[in-house]
Amino acid sequence: MGPDAIVADYLVVGAGAAGLAFADQILTETTATIALVDRRHSVGGHWNDAYPFVRLHQPSSNYGVNSRPLGYGGKDTSGYNEGLDELASGAEIVSYFEAVLQQQMLPTGRVQFIPMSEYRSTGEIVSLVSGAVRRVKARKIVDATLHSPAISATHKPVYTVAAGMICAPVNDLPRLFRPEGRIVIIGAGKTGMDACLWLLANGAAPQRITWIIPRDSWLFNRANVQTGQDQFINLARLIADEVECIAQASSVDNVFERLEARRAVLRIDPAITPRMHHCATVTEGELAALRSIPHIVRLGRVTAIEAQQIVLEKGTIPTDRDTVHIDCTASAITNAEARPVFAGNQTFLQNLRVCQPIFSAALIAHVEASRTEDAEKNAICVPLPMPGNPVDWLRTMAVELLCRLRWRAIADVAAFMASSRLDSLTPRMANLRSTDSAELAELDRYIRNIKPALMKLKVLLAPA
Ligand SMILES: Cc1cc2nc3c(=O)[nH]c(=O)nc-3n(C[C@H](O)[C@H](O)[C@H](O)COP(=O)(O)OP(=O)(O)OC[C@H]3O[C@@H](n4cnc5c(N)ncnc54)[C@H](O)[C@@H]3O)c2cc1C
Repeated sequence: MGPDAIVADYLVVGAGAAGLAFADQILTETTATIALVDRRHSVGGHWNDAYPFVRLHQPSSNYGVNSRPLGYGGKDTSGYNEGLDELASGAEIVSYFEAVLQQQMLPTGRVQFIPMSEYRSTGEIVSLVSGAVRRVKARKIVDATLHSPAISATHKPVYTVAAGMICAPVNDLPRLFRPEGRIVIIGAGKTGMDACLWLLANGAAPQRITWIIPRDSWLFNRANVQTGQDQFINLARLIADEVECIAQASSVDNVFERLEARRAVLRIDPAITPRMHHCATVTEGELAALRSIPHIVRLGRVTAIEAQQIVLEKGTIPTDRDTVHIDCTASAITNAEARPVFAGNQTFLQNLRVCQPIFSAALIAHVEASRTEDAEKNAICVPLPMPGNPVDWLRTMAVELLCRLRWRAIADVAAFMASSRLDSLTPRMANLRSTDSAELAELDRYIRNIKPALMKLKVLLAPA
């Protein structure tokens, strides 16, 4: 071990939102020391390279690290999110994480941040600037990279682009935007939707946009996941609807049709059955705007942008050198296989609640801080893969519903959740009074339907 060796109780690999949420909780609950290492120049992970008009999809109040609120707790007063909880911009998120590091973590004297450096499986950290190699002596290595999303700025599209054609990552859209000419948005995940919405919000005529939708998605309705005690009724209704619709459904598709009838999930085109589910969240206003785009292309994935045509899996459409093609094909959903969270001296941060990597990282840290045996810790922290399609979402629900029941029965875990600002559900559940009859009725409907839902999931998922 050389003099430059990095010595800490925990080495957290990846200083994105997940790694920071874990580190923050460990700092709160223990006296341990932490080394945070990241390839990037700063903390905050992918948000450092996000497109300029990116915003959270979910309220700021439930994002970030447990010990520090994000945002001002207000509502948007204009735009497609009007009347709903504010959504932090990429710039706000980056500056928030910088403040977490500089104002909270480093002053403890228990955290060191090692930027521009890569952790290698040999157990060494290599500086991407100088090439210097440092050894690590840590009690635990925490892998906070498993759910790191692919993003447009650093992702290479799989299709080819002929010389002279304009094709750029979504990050360049504001720079390439001009008053005339056609714009082709390639991809229909949340980034593709954001690109279309940004164009429309800035006055682009819908007719100018061609939107390539390789696969349609089910979308969550943001109105149901608002924060504040007065909004809890919507969330309580949502979780009750989810289990009730599963319990009553006759097929996987029928689960979603039932949820759609209650406006719990939405889709771009009611005539098309979505085959994708990535937890993207929209408002009804955003949905109406997206539906105003007349030129929608559903011919599969793009394979080539040629001088006069775009070649897709199932056909071609015309294009030309003046058209701006915007790549939104990086998938925010990574397909890392689920593995035990706790494995000896290694910890793998993964989702414990579907599509909630940050809450999950903080809960994993609480369990790490309060227990010693891996078997006991893994019984509480059961990893869920990221959902890619409707069946995946139901699979994750089958596991998560059991975990929710288990967590309620473990006193310190239930107490952690009830006090965690990253948990959108439990603190407000804990705050209910006997006079909150509408909310209590929804929670009762939720509890009553969990068992029937679990039984139905066995039937629905058997063929899969
Ligand atoms: C456009 C967009 C909007 C989103 N909105 C929301 C939202 O509203 N709510 C929500 O909960 N989630 C949202 N997400 C999901 C989001 O991905 C997570 O919330 C979270 O930011 C992911 O953080 P992470 O730490 O897992 O990954 P990252 O932010 O990617 O961080 C991982 C870090 O690990 C580093 N790294 C990887 N390998 C190594 C190595 N070997 N050595 C050193 N460093 C390494 C990388 O450089 C990276 O900085 C959104 C995602 C996108 C793309």
